[in-house]
Formats: sequence, C-alpha cells, structure tokens
Amino acid sequence: MLKLYNTLSRKKEEFHPIHKDYVGMYCCGPTVYFYAHIGNLRTYIFEDILKRVLLFNGFNVKHVMNITDVGHLTSDADEGEDKMLKGARREGKTVWEIAKFYENAFMNDIKKLNIIEPTIICRATDHINEMIELIKVLEKKNFTYIANGNVYYDITKFPNYGVLARINIEDLQAGARIEVDPNKKNPYDFVLWFTKSKFQEQEMKWPSPWGVGYPGWHIECSAMSMKYLGERFDIHCGGIDHIPIHHTNEIAQSEGAIGHKWVNFWLHGEFLIMDKGKMSKSSGEFLILSVLEQKGYNPLDYRYLCLNTHYRTPLTFTFEALDSARNAFKSLKNKIIEFRGKSESEKYDSQMIDLPIVQKYEADFVDAINDDLNVPKALGILWNVVRDKDLNASEKLYLIMKFDKVFGLNLSDVYEEEIEVPEEILKLVNERQEARKNKDFKKADELRELITLKGYIIDDTKEGIKIRKV
Ligand code: AMP
Ligand code: ZN
Repeated sequence: MLKLYNTLSRKKEEFHPIHKDYVGMYCCGPTVYFYAHIGNLRTYIFEDILKRVLLFNGFNVKHVMNITDVGHLTSDADEGEDKMLKGARREGKTVWEIAKFYENAFMNDIKKLNIIEPTIICRATDHINEMIELIKVLEKKNFTYIANGNVYYDITKFPNYGVLARINIEDLQAGARIEVDPNKKNPYDFVLWFTKSKFQEQEMKWPSPWGVGYPGWHIECSAMSMKYLGERFDIHCGGIDHIPIHHTNEIAQSEGAIGHKWVNFWLHGEFLIMDKGKMSKSSGEFLILSVLEQKGYNPLDYRYLCLNTHYRTPLTFTFEALDSARNAFKSLKNKIIEFRGKSESEKYDSQMIDLPIVQKYEADFVDAINDDLNVPKALGILWNVVRDKDLNASEKLYLIMKFDKVFGLNLSDVYEEEIEVPEEILKLVNERQEARKNKDFKKADELRELITLKGYIIDDTKEGIKIRKV
C-alpha cells in the first residue's frame, strides 16, 4: 500500500487514484529566465522519483508540467521585477529569445539527470486564452475587483483561503508588510491580470476583456492543470516555498471557480541549501548543473546525492558530499561490472522471481519506497543486495536492475568502457600534467575545463589519471 505525506492534512495518507486507468499529476515547472539551479533540480528529481514509484506500483501516470515564460515577478507575490524582463535586460535579448533558450537548457538538464519527460509540457504563453476564460469565471462569481487597471483576486471572498499553509485571513492582515501595492484591498490579494504595472516596456502583452496586458503568475497553473487533468486530479507538487503563496493562491483560484475540492494530494520537496543558507537565483548564491559537469562530475553523481536524503529533509550541498556520492556511485557501477563478469547469463529476470531471498528483498524495497518515498532506505537495501553473500551475481543483477526503475541511475547502461582517447585530448591531458608539475594550477584547471568541454573527464586517482567520456 502506497502512502504519501499530504501537505493538506500534514499526515501520511494511503494513496488511491481517482481514475482507474491513470494518476493525474501536476508539477510546477521552471521560470525560464535563467538556468535552473541545482536546488530547483532537486525538486524535479524528487518529482521524478514520485512518478517512478507510482509507475513501480503499476499505475499509469499522466504528468503535466508547465513552463513559466511570463508573469513571474522576482517575489512570488506581486512585487519586484519581472523575471523574464530581468533576463532579457541582462543578456540584451528579447524575452521570447530568453524563454526559448532557457527552456532548452532546462530540458537538457533534466535529460542529463535521467528525469522521465513529463507527458505534457505546457507553456504559459500558449495558454493565455484559458487563463482569460478562468478569470472571467472568477469575475462572474464575484471573486475579483479591478483597481487601477489590474484585476485582483479578493481573498476575503474565499472562506477556505490559506488551508494548505494553515494560515488564516486575520493572521495575514495582522502580519501584513507595510510596502504593498496600494491598489489592493487586502495585502494578500493577488493579481490575476495586469494592464498597468511599473514595467512599461513589457513585451509580452495580449488583448483581454480588461485591456491589453498579461497574466499574474498563479493563474497559469490553475488554468493549465485543469485543462489537461480535469477539475479534480490526484497529485500536485512543487518545492516547499510554494506552500504559502503560489499553491495557496492556486487553490483559491481553482476551487473558487469550480466550487469544489480540486486536488487530493499536495506533495512538497524540501530545499537544497548551501552552507551559507538558501540556494536562490535572486540572492546570487547558486550552482548550475553545467558547472558541476565542468568540475568533472557526472550529472548522475548529483542525482545519487539527492537520493541519499529523504525529499522532506533539507539537504545541505557541499562538494565533499558530492564527492562521497560520486565515490559511492562509482563503487556501485564497478560492482555491476564485476557481477556482469561473474553472471552466467543476462537473462536473470524470469528465473529469479520465485526465490524467497529475492522476494524478501523485493518486499523490503517496496515497503521502503511506499512509505512516503523512503528512497535513502531503499538505497540501503540496494547496498545490502550488493554485499549479500547468499545471493549470486545474476540474482544481484536482477534485483539491482529492478530497483533502478525507481532510482533512475541508468544502471543497465553500466559497462566497462574501453574508450579510445583521441590524440588531441591526450595532448591536453599531458599539458595539464605539466602545468600541475609546475604548480600552475590555474592553467591546469583551465585545461581540465577545456577537456570537459571536448567531451572527456579526467579523474585523478591513486592509480594515476583516468579518462572517461562525459
Ligand atoms: P522556479 O523556477 O523559481 O519557479 O522554481 C522551480 C522549482 O524549484 C519550484 O518547485 C521551487 O519550489 C523549487 N525550488 C526553488 N528553490 C529551491 C531550492 N533551493 N531547493 C529545492 N527546490 C527549490
Ligand atoms: Zn504552479
């Protein structure tokens, strides 16, 4: 029985899908004004694990993810700069160019992390009509007001406002910050449609019944999730920062419009933090995947690191932790190569199923993943399999490959690679060695980066230098 921690009830609950034939799952996607940082990517890895656990349990999953390419201000409330405009100014490009470039970069990142592509990926800018229609319904039902050209959601009209975050309207009013949009009746009201804002040069604009303008950030997720998953669906996810504002406002919009419960399960991933605190793009303290690659890490080393911490526990990123993850992952891959050498056949599947010891491991694994995705425990079980003297190599491979359906570490592709290193790379490697000998570490690092850019990674091991493909 699969149990998931539901933010709505603050409890682990048994999961039963609404529809017999699929689970509907909506995950808030990236705002494509810059590269995703590795904190963002931790959330997508968590969502991928959730999806894989659902698949492992035999469910079909209809996974919808949006791409925010309009409307998201640097604060999740309606303050700060427009994120897309900020990106465009920074790079001297149009907002459309920025959106396209960073959407591609994001798709590359998730591919490298072996995240299964969502069933449907939907851009906010392709769904302006759906958003307008939804705002019209909210307007008709009296949830909105217009002030100084913008359409606002009046949170006092929605009695359940704040249930997800366990906040109530009185507390919100008492704790209101001083600097708020003077058009708002209540500081926590939020914009559904902007026609006037401080961003006069805003390029992305559409006609609407309220004038030419653009949507607020929250409306896109309500409109697109209901378009693709219906007015009631199973699971909605995101990072924990979305609980108090974005998801709270999504509920107000959707349930206000449809008049009944919208989503059964809300799941939220804890943050990746740096030694110095939160990893965020606005604070400038963040790392992106390609920087890890330039430093010689495989993106799956980072995935392995994330698997080691439960999704509801904060994870502090350090390079020491990433090194340990890489080493553990490397030993695992070496073990697989060793087992392949010892295993009589690759046809381990059907022969193993009835063995009690194999069944016991499978049952323990399922118990772990079905207990609110206890992947760290499941990883421990994997290592017990690797070390178990009562299992032969074929049995181990059978279990490892089965478990990897959830871990997503691409273990079936692990073979000892006899790679042929081109002359050009060898020359660079030698130059780097020379630079290191001369204690010119800057040059050595530059050469290592160049080698990585050319598709090869060098590892300095006790046995000497090892070269492998990126
Ligand atoms: P954004 O692109 O800012 O809309 O964020 C994309 C996703 O990353 C959202 O689900 C956020 O909740 C999540 N997120 C943001 N910062 C972090 C972090 N430091 N650690 C983990 N997830 C994060
Ligand atoms: Zn969203």
